[in-house]
Amino acid sequence: MDDLIKKAAADLAQANMAAALTGAGASIESGIPPFRGKGGLWEKMDPMEVAHIDAFMQDPAKVWKLLVKGMKDVVDQAQPNDCHKGLARLEALGKLQTVITQNIDGLHQMAGNTDVIEFHGTFAWQRCMDCNTHIETRRVNVSEIPPRCHCGGILRPNAVFFGELIPHEALWRSRQVATDCDIMLVIGTSAMVHPAAMIPVLAKETGANVIEINPESTPLTGEISDYIIKGPAGDTMNCIVAELEKMI
Ligand code: NAD
Ligand code: ZN
Repeated sequence: MDDLIKKAAADLAQANMAAALTGAGASIESGIPPFRGKGGLWEKMDPMEVAHIDAFMQDPAKVWKLLVKGMKDVVDQAQPNDCHKGLARLEALGKLQTVITQNIDGLHQMAGNTDVIEFHGTFAWQRCMDCNTHIETRRVNVSEIPPRCHCGGILRPNAVFFGELIPHEALWRSRQVATDCDIMLVIGTSAMVHPAAMIPVLAKETGANVIEINPESTPLTGEISDYIIKGPAGDTMNCIVAELEKMI
């Protein structure tokens, strides 16, 4: 693993344009549970029952109770971990241009990355389903479920539910970044959610070196990624940044 960390640092040092794609695994060390895998939310509930747009439209109160309220409690308190801070440090060193994230927790921006593509939207804001007013999630009063806008409309996260389209701008820019980058770090994603899982595939097809950081193998491992560093995101990023700082 030490050799792979040195290799990743050397690859980053040489890259002209580096990008990262992050998933729920990047935020686990900030206390936000992932969907899949050990301790994941899907062990406790059926995704289609709670995170599909049809479920929300059918019974917004149920989805607020089972998923959104708990997520708000966790995300309101969450702070960036060493993975987020490491990616911000890479940007400060001029060694990372863009973060594409599937996460909706806003932690990359909080850590200091300035070009963050929120592929699945953001949980930082709720929007009214009737008048489209946007309200910061941490200001939403959850004493009434589902919470409502001043107009009486129901609030929903400004994030993408399963069954909804990816915001056009995010999709378009992500494709561009995947095509243009010569190295892509793929951190903490199970690569099971589409179309996000296609981003590293596009990067590979257009000539990028694809490096995974994940304690577990994924469908990309051995197929798309050049190598995988099997470790937790925070420690691994700390080690890569420390190696890189010795090289530049
Ligand atoms: P996922 O839940 O499907 O997979 C999480 C991945 O993280 C797994 O591959 C797992 O092996 C890996 N992992 C576990 N511990 C890790 C660690 N310490 N360091 C690095 N990796 C670790 O996540 P996903 O692929 O992102 O897909 C689920 C979708 O649900 C996402 O697209 C996202 O939109 C949403 N989601 C977001 C958040 C958030 O905003 N923080 C949290 C849960 C789910
Ligand atoms: Zn309204």
